[in-house]
Amino acid sequence: MTADLYSADHARALDSADPLAGFRAEFLLPRHDGHEQAYFCGNSLGLQPKGARAHVEEVLDKWAAEAVEGHFTGQAQWMPYHELVRDPLADVVGAQPSEVVAMNSLTANLHLMMVSFYQPTIERTAILVEAGSFPSDRYAVESQLKYRGLPPGHTLIEVEPDNADGTFSMEAIERAIRADGKRLALVLWPGVQYRTGQAFDLKEIARIGHEVGAIVGFDLAHAVGNLPLQLHDSGADFAVWCHYKYMNAGPGAVAGCFVHERHARTHRPRFAGWWGHEQASRFRMGPEFVPTPGADGWQLSNPPILALAPLRASLDLFARAGMDALRAKSESLTGYLEALIDLRLRDTLQIITPRDPSQRGCQLSLRVTGGCGLSGRDAGRALFETLGGQGIVGDWREPDVIRISPAPLYNTHADVLRFARAVEQWRSAGA
Ligand SMILES: *Cc1c(COP(=O)(O)O)cnc(C)c1O
Repeated sequence: MTADLYSADHARALDSADPLAGFRAEFLLPRHDGHEQAYFCGNSLGLQPKGARAHVEEVLDKWAAEAVEGHFTGQAQWMPYHELVRDPLADVVGAQPSEVVAMNSLTANLHLMMVSFYQPTIERTAILVEAGSFPSDRYAVESQLKYRGLPPGHTLIEVEPDNADGTFSMEAIERAIRADGKRLALVLWPGVQYRTGQAFDLKEIARIGHEVGAIVGFDLAHAVGNLPLQLHDSGADFAVWCHYKYMNAGPGAVAGCFVHERHARTHRPRFAGWWGHEQASRFRMGPEFVPTPGADGWQLSNPPILALAPLRASLDLFARAGMDALRAKSESLTGYLEALIDLRLRDTLQIITPRDPSQRGCQLSLRVTGGCGLSGRDAGRALFETLGGQGIVGDWREPDVIRISPAPLYNTHADVLRFARAVEQWRSAGA
């Protein structure tokens, strides 16, 4: 029975039973040699929804026809344009609408959040992050420490993974938070770790962080649009993410930010701009900043409407598909990928992402151990290039990891089978 996993019929049967199969046709799939790519790189840049162009053209047309009046006329007027994405975005991340805002970029939002929520005191100066965090996050944290005159050597706590594959047990995270609990000002943790694909229990991390008296923030770059989230119920103080990965809103898309409602009217310091000012009196143009309650109060500028437009198309697809249905399909796709590797590719690919589906999203990080007569990094690069040459697109992480992320909005079980067969063929080519 299990050998059938590699049959095209088996993959086809899974795809024809897929209630979300129709969503693939909502995307523009890059082509390779006349065929659609097997695109597994949604962890880096999601595909273009066909609806994105109409939303962008709507803005261009409105600008052409109405110029400044475009701010105040029609359904998609620019003055409250960011409000068009608020409710569907709140649904995707499990927040109340007033807790989310689309603005800026991920790293900019992380800085704005640390300005408000990283408030070192004499006793509490430390920020706790995972060792090997995404470089931009690390640069942001370290520069915030330096900006406040604090030496990162003492105040930046980097938790080492306790498992050999580079993943963390919940116990290790809890031990680390408790060990430095008295001096922790902020715990900053990923929703899904970008290199290993490990997903974390956000509610539990927030609970432990709060128990020791720290603020808890999350970077959800690899979690949003990938896993169903309950940000409000997690109790997190803040979260940031981007929209160009699993959210498919285009390169450099306007990013997202969450501020828990308990901070809606905070007196914490913030870097302010006019778009965060209370709407009713914003255009009195007074000298005193009165923040809009909720996440909107952290906006700086009037938003880049052209860059925000594709997010509307993307959120429309998420609203129609629903995060729970997407997750069910995602578990099926990634489970199939795992089963195909286990069945025939164990001597070539080592899965470093957790085996427990509750500890991962769609991504599997695969260490290339050897094949085609090669070993180590050489094998990895050769395989990666072979796949690319066949229109099978993952991405490469030094020194020897290929990340494959089947996205439930547009990938199929047939795509997954195509990947596994290509690896199998490559491996035996050198034998
Ligand atoms: C993708 C990603 C970023 C990218 O930051 P930008 O500000 O959007 O360029 C930052 N952090 C993490 C964890 C990421 O995965």
